[in-house]
This record gives sequence, structure tokens and C-alpha cells, in this order.
Amino acid sequence: MEKIKMTTPLVEMDGDEMTRILWKIIKDELLTPFIDLKTEYYDLGLEHRNETDDQVTIDSANATKKYGVAVKCATITPNAARMTEYQLKEMWKSPNGTIRAILDGTVFRTPIVVKGIDPCVRNWKKPITLARHAYGDVYKASEIKVPTAGKAELVFTAEDGTETRELIHQFEGPGVLQGMHNTEKSIRSFAKSCFNYALDTRQDLWFATKDTISKKYDHTFKDIFQEIFEKEYKDKFEKAGITYFYTLIDDAVARVMKAEGGFIWACKNYDGDVMSDMVSSAFGSLAMMTSVLVSPDGNFEYEAAHGTVQRHYYKYLKGEETSTNSVATIFAWTGALRKRGELDGITELCAFADKLEAATLATIESGKMTKDLALITSLENPTVLNSKDFILTIRKELETRL
Ligand code: NAP
Ligand code: MG
Repeated sequence: MEKIKMTTPLVEMDGDEMTRILWKIIKDELLTPFIDLKTEYYDLGLEHRNETDDQVTIDSANATKKYGVAVKCATITPNAARMTEYQLKEMWKSPNGTIRAILDGTVFRTPIVVKGIDPCVRNWKKPITLARHAYGDVYKASEIKVPTAGKAELVFTAEDGTETRELIHQFEGPGVLQGMHNTEKSIRSFAKSCFNYALDTRQDLWFATKDTISKKYDHTFKDIFQEIFEKEYKDKFEKAGITYFYTLIDDAVARVMKAEGGFIWACKNYDGDVMSDMVSSAFGSLAMMTSVLVSPDGNFEYEAAHGTVQRHYYKYLKGEETSTNSVATIFAWTGALRKRGELDGITELCAFADKLEAATLATIESGKMTKDLALITSLENPTVLNSKDFILTIRKELETRL
């Protein structure tokens, strides 16, 4: 079989620990035998980030802006223990944070649904994609512990010195205070990313806040979404046969539990934090989630939703057998390859991505899986494979489909 040719390189961001091991096996066994893989390689492994004073992370994000599509391996976010372990010059920032700040986007997370790994919610038949706004609100708040009775006010001082004041509360005793914000720019980019992603994946978009109670703050989110929808997306949505729908967050939660799935649920930062953990654990496992960062100007960065699986890596280093689930990392590659294929008009590349995903799911559905899935599957007598054998079994399945 002739290898599939690519025209534009994918931005490849290599990473750390167990996922770095999986990364290489996936490339060697599932990609390079079939594709003339064209990538611009950035080594985001912690050692190389440290050597380059983290410049490599910035360069990889800028390359994503240049080419439009990236695929990222999980990376270590350094903490005190990692400072010693890797003898770091500095406690480098989270690569995902750095990349997100440069690309300015929204993260979409979707469970990978497979027969035998059943959602806890019986009526969920299709995946529910969570779109979480990743800026501001309670995550950038200022807080005061109020010690005694007194008056609390919100004060805004404009650049020309004009003050606007709003009474928060006349305290008669101790209490607590919190001041939070968001920016129109960030909300607009959140809205556009959501509308673009809905169009891209042809799914309905739900958005929910608490605008009946928060008549200025949350209402601004609702208004901005509505304005952008009417102006730029209404016709496109009609043509694509999808809908945009706004409701209150409590109503959304109730409806989600009764729904079939198959839609995108856009959430404000806090709601998204809480709801994505609920939705992902109800669907099964973090290793069975896709995650993509979509920027408002149409750049895509695909990754796995889980970390570097450090515990398994230490077993691997000791020469012990591991059974690490590579599905989310495989789907990061297929997501990126399919998008590259779409942008460059290479249908073979899109078809290959579809087949590799189908082969991965078929492998699990035939009862061959990694340990994490064997523990939760409804299939009887599953075969537990080690990290490499799982990928090799997918390769056999893939070869029957090519
Ligand atoms: P983790 O890598 O997600 O792993 C936590 C535990 O979840 C594992 O010990 C394992 O449980 C299970 N698990 C996660 N992914 C799995 C997979 N693919 N297959 C099988 N089991 C899996 O989180 P962590 O250990 O807390 O973090 C390790 C490093 O990852 C940290 O340095 C952190 O900074 C980084 N991290 C990176 C990203 C990212 O780059 N996107 C995200 C999160 C964390 P058992 O041990 O019980 O088998
Ligand atoms: Mg959380």
C-alpha cells in the first residue's frame, strides 16, 4: 500500500513520562507505516523546556498559529517536587496555560463512547461535549474576609477619574466578600469558538447562565452570545440544520440528565469546571475523552484530557509491565490528522483517521482493552493487554480495514 501524502505539516508537541512512551509507539505502529507523516516537531518534554527557558512552548504555540493544527502530548506542570526531580532553573508555567494564552481559545471535551463502557446515565446515547470558558469569574477574583461591621461597596474608577459606586452590603458583623470580573473581549472569543465548533461538528449548541439573578454580569454573557449568533451565525446554523439554544443553568442541568446527548454544552468557567468532571466521570474515564482547544481565529490544538500518568511511568522505568490506556492520545492524533485533511482537501487522510478510530473502538468492543477499562466494562471476561500490546492489537484491526 502506498503511504498517504501530506501537504502541510502538523505541529507536533511531544511531552513527558508515560504519555511520551505511548506517543512514540503510536507513531511507530499506527501512523508512520501508513502515512508519510509530515510534522514540525517541538519537544515539550520538561527537560527540553528547561534547556530552552520554555521558549520551545512559545514557539510551538506560534507555529500552531502559522499552520492551524497541532497535536499535543500530555506534559508535566512543574511543582516543588519536579524542581528537584528535573533540577529545573525555574518552576516553568503550565504549557497548556502558555499555549492557551497565545492562541486564546475555548477547550472542548467529549467522551469517547464505546460499547461495553456504559454511561451511568442510561438515556445518554451520544456524547455530550462540554465547552468551558477558561478565563475570569471566580478564578480571577479578589476576596476579603470581613472582620467587623461596616459598609462594602463596588467601586469602578474610569480612566478619567469618574467613580461609579454600588452598595454591596451594610455589614452588621463579620462576613465575607468577593469581587470578580470578566471582559467583553474574552466572552466574545468564547462565544465565537463555541459557534464555530458547533458548525464544525454539526451539533446543537446549548448555553446556560443564571441571568435571572445576575442581571448585569450573567446577562452580559447571554446578550453577547445572542448578538453574535444573530449577526454572524444564524444563517449558517440554519443551513447546517443545527440550533442554538439558551436557557437557565438549573434548567440546563435538568434537561441534560434527560437528554440523549449529541450536543455541545457551553458553560461559564465555574459551571464548566464542575459540570465537565460530572459529565466525564459519568461517561466512564478521563482516558476516554477527547480534548481540543479551538481559537476564535480557527486554530486547533488536539490533546488527551489526562496527564502524563506518572505512576505508570515509574513502573515502566523499573521494567515492570504497564497497562496504560492510549485511546485519548490516539484520538488526539486522529483529530489533528482529520482536521489537516479537511483543511488541505486530502480525503485519504480523513478516511485514515476515521478507520484508526473505528479500529480502536472495535478492539475494545471485542473485549481487548487496558486495565482501567477492564475494571469498568460491562463486557464479560475482558482480555487485559499491556500498553504496547493494546496498540499492536489496534494495528492488526486497522490493517484489516485499510
Ligand atoms: P494523570 O496523569 O491524569 O493520572 C492520574 C491517574 O489516573 C493515574 O495514576 C491512573 O490511575 C489514571 N490514569 C490517567 N490516565 C490514564 C491512562 N491513559 N490510562 C490508565 N490510567 C490512567 O494525573 P497525575 O498523575 O495527577 O499527573 C501526572 C502529571 O501530569 C503531572 O505532572 C501533571 O502536571 C500532568 N498533567 C498534565 C496534563 C496535560 O498535559 N494536559 C493534564 C493533567 C495533568 P492508576 O494509577 O490508579 O492506574
Ligand atoms: Mg475541576
